[in-house]
Amino acid sequence: MFNAILLNKNEDGTTDATLTQIDDAQLPAEGDVTVRVDYSTINYKDGLAITGKSPVVRKWPMVPGIDGAGEVLASSHPDWKAGDAFVLNGWGVGEVHMGCLAQRAKLKGDWLIRRPEAISARHAMAIGTAGYTAMLCAIALQERGVHKDSGEILVTGASGGVGSVAIAILSGWGYRVIASTGKTAEADYLKALGAVDVIDRAELSAPGKPLQKERWAGVVDAVGSHTLVNALAQTRYGGAVAACGLAQGLDLPGSVAPFILRGVSLLGIDSVMAPKEKRIAAWDRLAADLPVAKIERITEEIGLADALSKAQDIIQGKIRGRLVVDVNR
Ligand code: NDP
Repeated sequence: MFNAILLNKNEDGTTDATLTQIDDAQLPAEGDVTVRVDYSTINYKDGLAITGKSPVVRKWPMVPGIDGAGEVLASSHPDWKAGDAFVLNGWGVGEVHMGCLAQRAKLKGDWLIRRPEAISARHAMAIGTAGYTAMLCAIALQERGVHKDSGEILVTGASGGVGSVAIAILSGWGYRVIASTGKTAEADYLKALGAVDVIDRAELSAPGKPLQKERWAGVVDAVGSHTLVNALAQTRYGGAVAACGLAQGLDLPGSVAPFILRGVSLLGIDSVMAPKEKRIAAWDRLAADLPVAKIERITEEIGLADALSKAQDIIQGKIRGRLVVDVNR
């Protein structure tokens, strides 16, 4: 038996989340690698799954936890053997396949990547899907021709997981990063991560004109809705916006004006089904370019039982930075 968070669907459609014990027989038969999870995380999506606020979970009962890091215990997959260190992000784990907010998981070898040597299991989970997505956004902007001397970069949802790591990455690469946040009291935190200035997210969250004063060479947007539309409307000629999140909303209530009059690019970023080469490239750059000290500064460590209350907090926008879960405490 081992400890796990288990989600069940109540008759009224709400989600029942408990810390309990399960055994190997309850893990999914389709996994070909059994792993010992050392650390997991709470991402925004885990918050949605545990609270039941959105229909993230599509198979019941479910162990949540879209991220995991630890060691392989047993494998029938040719690429993996007992003792190998792995990182897992996404692929529907914690949504349709039992996840990593547990001491053990049974996963598909094709989903796992080797944990870079420079990154411990705890550090990998402090980065988590949020940090790996921030890196996908940063790489996408670079590949689209947004360079450090192109101009200012806006990061929205700045005090959250994606936002915090995006600031750390881009400022580390020499970009001038402006952080948009609802927590203006966190200005010192955001500047310590590398933001040169902080703006109040209220400047971006209400409906605005289709084209506004050109300011941003690039944008990392974790917020969606009017914020994304305004960010597009303020992006300079030829600039690019990497869109990965929906903290304000799933809607996109805007116009095509920035695309057809300023040649602005909207870059969609998905971490869940991203191909393996993209993941490996992103993790290699996280290992090389993101100082451990910066990630430590934004990380709070919690135990498995705390995951239940912290899930509520992340949905209410109360979390700053990243939550790493030690599943053994
Ligand atoms: P967090 O909860 O850590 O951060 C989200 C941040 O958004 C909050 O800290 C807050 O920052 C801001 N925010 C919250 N509510 C609102 C609101 N109503 N209006 C405007 N801003 C708001 O989540 P993550 O950083 O982990 O994830 C951010 C988003 O990215 C989520 O929507 C998540 O689902 C998505 N995501 C998508 C991925 C993908 O593959 N595309 C992968 C990972 C995440 P502040 O207080 O500083 O304004």
